[in-house]
Amino acid sequence: MAHPRIFDRRSLLALLALLLFAGFFTITLIGYFVSKKAIRDAIIEQDLPLTSSNIYSEIQKDLVRPVLISSTMAHDTFLRDWVLRGERNVGEMSRYLMEVRRRYGAFSSFFVSEKSGLYYTGEGVLKRVRPDEPRDAWYYRVRGMKEDYEINVDPDMANADALTIFINYRVFDFKGDYLGATGIGLTVDAVSRLIAEYQERFRRTIYFVDAQGRVVQLGAGRAGQGADLHAAPGLGPLIDGILREPRGSRQFQAGGDSHILHFNYLPELKWYLFVEQNESAALAGIRRTLFVNLSISLAVTLVVVFLTHLALARYQSRIEEMASTDKLTGLLNRHAFAILAVKLLAEHRREPRPVAVLLADIDRFKEINDRHGHLAGDAVLEAVAQVLQRRLRASDLAVRWGGEEFLLLLKGCELDEARRIAEDLRQAVAASPVAAGKLAIPVTISIGVSQFDGRESMDRLIGRADEALYAAKHGGRNRVDVA
Ligand code: GH3
Ligand code: MG
Ligand code: MG
Repeated sequence: MAHPRIFDRRSLLALLALLLFAGFFTITLIGYFVSKKAIRDAIIEQDLPLTSSNIYSEIQKDLVRPVLISSTMAHDTFLRDWVLRGERNVGEMSRYLMEVRRRYGAFSSFFVSEKSGLYYTGEGVLKRVRPDEPRDAWYYRVRGMKEDYEINVDPDMANADALTIFINYRVFDFKGDYLGATGIGLTVDAVSRLIAEYQERFRRTIYFVDAQGRVVQLGAGRAGQGADLHAAPGLGPLIDGILREPRGSRQFQAGGDSHILHFNYLPELKWYLFVEQNESAALAGIRRTLFVNLSISLAVTLVVVFLTHLALARYQSRIEEMASTDKLTGLLNRHAFAILAVKLLAEHRREPRPVAVLLADIDRFKEINDRHGHLAGDAVLEAVAQVLQRRLRASDLAVRWGGEEFLLLLKGCELDEARRIAEDLRQAVAASPVAAGKLAIPVTISIGVSQFDGRESMDRLIGRADEALYAAKHGGRNRVDVA
């Protein structure tokens, strides 16, 4: 028999699920944000500056040798004597430049004479420099400068991947008069290799930017050669601020991702070295972990809630049964009826419908006990309870009211119909003697019926049924009386 529920399990489970998941969620989220901050801090404070300074020191290392070679050339007595002698034997000069180039593995070697304007290389005279030729502008710049040499990285001369650096050294004769410019061009492979390696290994984008904010040289990645970064998405608005600082870092959004940029001014090249890291890509790992953790939390929550639901359902129905039903007959006990009666009266107040009460009592039950024993008495109680129970509707209540008294509450039932049902019950009990061992014990019941008048208390209603029952007993038993 399904009893009406006295308390609700669903809100308890919902609360449990909420608490569990909120706890997991908070812990997971805190962990995620802590890791995220740690990763970001490491990128900003260690990874990018370290990459930048490694590349910078590699560049400096690579620059020392060509500067030394060019200095040696500028102070070479052969070179200066040859110029002073009137630049007569071109073969001597080109042999000299060829030797330098071969010996030091340079990309090119050159001398430009101030007097003749001729540009000598290992292959002989390349051309004559002219002030109105833009490609020769470097020579006139070097002629006018105060320093002994300049390091010039000419983007036009750079081949596809390698960074090519020219050292332009000023040459003076023994009296200190200006003779021209000499030097070598070197492919700085080590720097290129390092940049490529960093780009590949750490998925960083590494490139150089000139003082006007244009990309000068790059391995793979970023916008093309000469691209103005002022127009770069996300980064553009930051460029002017960056170009006013020697080094620093910035964060910006581009292409739906968050990027961290470290920049460092390299005075030798008069360029900025930009090292960029896609933060979103770096965080992809812990974001995956976050989703995995959240899924696990959800799964654990669901499993715990489900198991709790099973356990609760088992214990609840057991406890409720124990608390609300009579052990022997399985009918509701008085305690459960008291709770349901309150509900019933409240319901009636909202929606008045007829309610009838039947109070049934087994006739001469003491005698049955005395004659056949207590166990037979119990069997009779069970059997009568079953007869009553089976003949009632699902909405009716059957209660073991006392020792051998049963209270039946019929909903939506007028007095006449209640009397008819009572009569029916009485006949049914009388017609089915109870089997106890080999015996068939005849059993009868008397019933008192009362109808709820809409105002009285439950006690009063039952009291009136009890009076009717008393009348039935006095009227000879095995009969129905109405209050
Ligand atoms: P009446 O026709 O006037 O109702 O007579 P009665 O003998 O049925 O009435 P009475 O109230 O004098 O006796 C009821 C008896 O029921 C007394 C008690 O020992 C017995 N009884 C009460 N509860 C149980 C029970 O759970 N099992 C058994 N076997 N007997 C019970
Ligand atoms: Mg009795
Ligand atoms: Mg009795």
